[in-house]
Amino acid sequence: MHLKRQKSIPIGIWQALKSTTKTLKPKKITTGSEWAERNFYLTTNDAAEPGRFTFDRCPWQKEILDALSDNVHEFVALKCSAQVGKTTLLTIDILRAADEQPGGFAVLFPALHSATSYSQDRFDPAIEVSPGAKGVFHEHKYGRSENTKYVKKFTGGQVRFITANSSSAMKSKPIARLYCEEVNEYPFDVSGQGAPLDIALKRTIAFEGVRKVFLNSTPTTEKYGLIESWYARGTQKECYVPCPECGHYQTLSDLQFRYEGTKPEQVKKVDYECVECKALWPESAKFEIISRYEWRAKNPDALVDSYSVWQAYNLGNSWVEIVREYLRVKDDPEKLKTYWNQTLNKSWVDRSETDWTRVYDRRESYPVGVAPKDCLVLTGAIDVQKDRYEVLVCGHTRTHEIYVIDYFFIDGGPQNEAAKTRVADFCRARYQRADGHDLELNAVAIDSGYETQSVYELARRINSEKVFVTKGQNNFLAPAVHAPSYVDLNYKGEKIKNGVKLWPVGVSQLKGEVSSRLRLRPEVEKTDAGEVQKFPPHYLHFPQFDEDFFKSLCSESIVQTQKKHGAKKVSAAWVKHYDRNEVFDLMVLTLFLSRVLGLDRFTDSLWDSQEKAISGATSHRANVTNAPRPAQRTSRVISRGVELD
Ligand SMILES: [Zn+2]
Repeated sequence: MHLKRQKSIPIGIWQALKSTTKTLKPKKITTGSEWAERNFYLTTNDAAEPGRFTFDRCPWQKEILDALSDNVHEFVALKCSAQVGKTTLLTIDILRAADEQPGGFAVLFPALHSATSYSQDRFDPAIEVSPGAKGVFHEHKYGRSENTKYVKKFTGGQVRFITANSSSAMKSKPIARLYCEEVNEYPFDVSGQGAPLDIALKRTIAFEGVRKVFLNSTPTTEKYGLIESWYARGTQKECYVPCPECGHYQTLSDLQFRYEGTKPEQVKKVDYECVECKALWPESAKFEIISRYEWRAKNPDALVDSYSVWQAYNLGNSWVEIVREYLRVKDDPEKLKTYWNQTLNKSWVDRSETDWTRVYDRRESYPVGVAPKDCLVLTGAIDVQKDRYEVLVCGHTRTHEIYVIDYFFIDGGPQNEAAKTRVADFCRARYQRADGHDLELNAVAIDSGYETQSVYELARRINSEKVFVTKGQNNFLAPAVHAPSYVDLNYKGEKIKNGVKLWPVGVSQLKGEVSSRLRLRPEVEKTDAGEVQKFPPHYLHFPQFDEDFFKSLCSESIVQTQKKHGAKKVSAAWVKHYDRNEVFDLMVLTLFLSRVLGLDRFTDSLWDSQEKAISGATSHRANVTNAPRPAQRTSRVISRGVELD
């Protein structure tokens, strides 16, 4: 019901009246699929055949639309190829919710151009033609001035089109329905405030229990992007169809396509081989079998409702064309990657990406123990083992590149007094920079996962603001950095001044960031003086360490695991390929420190004053290398391992 305020009614009374009307007559919420068939029209921008929306081509879209309108799942994730109607589903749900469950909505796009083109080419035309949007969106009631390209007002709310590279837009208002478009394209971090999705999700917390978050993306070349991770955490629904011969339900896979020819023009027809009875079905059988689809969940109890689907399921798409496209791109690695992502809905796993030798081959020639001159901030990370402390020292630059400067062991574990003294000494160490100036450690993180009490005791002894005692949080949603808790309380339960603070570290996210950063490659620029390497922001630099260091650095990757027992069978986990993962953990702590120090928020003038403080400091050559040097390597391996739910 849409009321229009008469000028004679004061606004306050009007609002009261309006809310009473709402309480008296709650609007009936239809399922998303019912609403779509009744109220939504396609334009020429959506489909080759504009007109009233139907599920003829993609009958399986019904469940996804219903999941968006139900009260069961707060989170719905869709991992899909292009051409399965993803954007249409988005538009339908926004229009339906504006009509039936109005409130503050936002659509988070990876970049401004995608927000602009969605607004102009898809959203505005849909409002024009869809009867379900008529009278709901203000544009039609009050004229265009009410709405801008990025804010569309409707009775009882508005939908804002925001971008993942602007934290201010995300922060402005609480969000009851959040639509996250192409999440795999979001930047790591938005102006040092954290991951865009985290920031936006925080705006939905006021609506916990009644919010709706819809995340979607095609997979990308990232080995394990956001959509893969959300899909894996969810119900993992795939679309099963029955074999016309034996009735066996199976998912459609490009691996079962059978055809003749090696060139695109030679392929005249594509048959499908049943995985069960090996019968060949002609493509024409798809109309029958897809109409008998069933979404089947691998992990039905999950809190996130997640779906995966690809082009072959769209009855408007020809399987012959899918095969021809493959033959066109198969010899071009870049195009083939795109084909995997956009057509097959598969993440491109470049096996060599996890290969430690790739990173090993990029080692640089700067000396160990000396910070390159771009380094302005120095951090230390300490991992506690039974018989030693492992230490990683890194320099941070203005462009958020990180130089690994030193890696060594302090022999003797938490029970060894001399070792504790050497750790305390290390926290006060200074390192020399290539230009002769000294850098002092700005922050040191000590992981308290092992021998917790001993680490607390060590932190009390060092008693420095620079020391961060950390504890890994092993769940996927844990933010990278979170407020610390106080370990030291007095008898009244009050926190003790200078007591130990325990910092939770969202290791899952930071591990993902380490992996992504390891995939960055320098660009080679040709100049008159020869080839020059240009390093991208966030690049990780390594000196000439030995192979063990790089094996440990690349020791984990995220994979889906299938557990034999228990109801929740499938989950994603960081899994070790190499027994020693300490360097990977130390890198995670280093990224934690860069976040907690707020380096990504540093303005130019802050960096300038940091540089001034360093170059103004007198160089104390004698003190420069009082950092403990690498002790003898032990060959013993104590692996705690890290697994995530
Ligand atoms: Zn069969």
